[in-house]
Amino acid sequence: MNFLSLIESKREGKVHAPEHIREFIHAFTAGKIPDYQMAALLMAIYFRGLNPAETTALTLAMRDSGHVLKFPKDKRPLVDKHSTGGIGDKVSLPLAPLLACLGFRVPMISGRGLGITGGTLDKLDSIPGFKTLLPATQIMRQVQRVGCVICGQTDKMVPADKKIYALRDASGTVPSIPLITASILSKKLAENLDALILDVKFGCAAFMQTKADARKLAKAMVALGNECGVNTRAILTDMNTPLGHAAGNWLEVKESVQCLEIGRADLPVSQAAQQRGPTDLRQLVLDCAAHLLVQTKKSKSLAVARKQTEDCLNSGAPRRKWDEMLVVQGADLKAFNHKLTLDSTAKVVAELKSEKGGYVSKCDARVIGEMIRDLGGGRLTKDSQINYDAGVDQIVKPGERVEKLGTLCRVHAADSVQVKAAIARLKMAFEISAKRPLKNPLIIEVIR
Ligand code: URA
Repeated sequence: MNFLSLIESKREGKVHAPEHIREFIHAFTAGKIPDYQMAALLMAIYFRGLNPAETTALTLAMRDSGHVLKFPKDKRPLVDKHSTGGIGDKVSLPLAPLLACLGFRVPMISGRGLGITGGTLDKLDSIPGFKTLLPATQIMRQVQRVGCVICGQTDKMVPADKKIYALRDASGTVPSIPLITASILSKKLAENLDALILDVKFGCAAFMQTKADARKLAKAMVALGNECGVNTRAILTDMNTPLGHAAGNWLEVKESVQCLEIGRADLPVSQAAQQRGPTDLRQLVLDCAAHLLVQTKKSKSLAVARKQTEDCLNSGAPRRKWDEMLVVQGADLKAFNHKLTLDSTAKVVAELKSEKGGYVSKCDARVIGEMIRDLGGGRLTKDSQINYDAGVDQIVKPGERVEKLGTLCRVHAADSVQVKAAIARLKMAFEISAKRPLKNPLIIEVIR
C-alpha cells in the first residue's frame, strides 16, 4: 500500500477500497504511518467525506485494532447507551443499574469530558474509592455477576481510535460525520452488543448545534450500527438547557442517586415524586431503557416497555443495584453515603437571585457549561486538573416560576473570587418573562 497515493486519491474525492482502509488502520496503529500523513488524510476525509461502505470499513478496522470484549452465552442481552454529550447529562449513571435490573447485561465503557460537556468517568471519580480503570477480565466478570459496569476503555481496546482522536483534536478534523461515526461506533462495537441506543443531542451546548446536523449524524450511526449487527436506534434530544437541576461532577452523581430513589412512602404522591429527581432526567432514563426493551424484543411496544421500566425504577431495585456496582468497583459506601448527606462539598456556595418575578424563558446550557469548565469542573486540555465539587444546582428551568429575589441557581466553587465571577456570568444564562413560555419537548424524534 502506498499511503501517499491514498491521501492524494481522497484529496481528489475518490473512494477507498475496504482492504486499503483495513491496511492503513493496521499500519497506523502499529506506528508505521507518521502522524503528519495521517493528519493529511483526515483533512482530506473532512472535506471529501466517506461513503457508507468506506465508513463501515473504517469502523470495523478501528474496532479490530485491539481487544473486543467476549461474553459467555447468556439469555440476558448485552446493551448500552451512548450520548453525544451535554450539560448535566448524567443519564448513564442511573440507567446502567436500571438496565441490569430489567434483565440486561451492560458493559458501559465511558469517556472523560473535554471542553464543556461532562464525562461519565469524571463524575464517577468523585465517588470515594470508586475505580473506573478496570482490566478486561474484571469488566467481563462484573457484567456477568452484577449485570452492569461503568468504566473506561482499557489500553488494549480500540487503540486506533485513541491515536486518531488525538490527531483529529490537534488537526481541526473532529466535526466530520463519518469520522465521528467511526470513532463512536468502533468503541461500542468492541463491547459486542446486541442493542444500542444513541442519544444525539442538538442545541447551543451540543456537539451538533442544529437539528439537521444531529439528524444526519444519528441516521449515519443508526444505519452503520444495524449494518454491523447491533440493533441500533437514536433519539434526538434538546440540549439548549441543562438536563436536570444540577451540573458539575459530584452534584450530578447526587442527582443521579435521587433519580434512583423511590421517594418516602409517607408523603403525598406529588411530594414523593419530587424526591425522585428531576422529571426530564427521569423521562430520558426511562425512555432509553424502554427503547432497549423493544429493540431486544423483551417488550412488544414502547407503551408496555415504559410501564415496565417505571415499575422497575419505582421498585427500588436499581437503587440497590447501584450500591452493589459501587462496592464491586471499590467504592467506600460509608463515605459515599455520608457525602450524599452534605448540602455542598465545595468551599463556597452562593445563590444567583432573580432581579424580577416571572417565568424562566431561557436557561442557556452553553453559558452554564463554560462557567463550570472555568471553575475547574471540566477540562480545557486533556491534562487539566478537575475540581469535582464545582458546579451549579437548584437550577430553575424554562417554564418554571421564580419570585423576585428568588433563587435561579446556586454556584459551588473553590473560593469567593471564583463565585463572584461565576454569578456575574450566570446572569447572562437566564431570561425571565411575564408569560409562561411554551415547553420544548425533550425528545423530538426517534430514528430507527
Ligand atoms: N465522541 C467520540 O468518541 N468520538 C468523536 O469523534 C466524537 C465524540
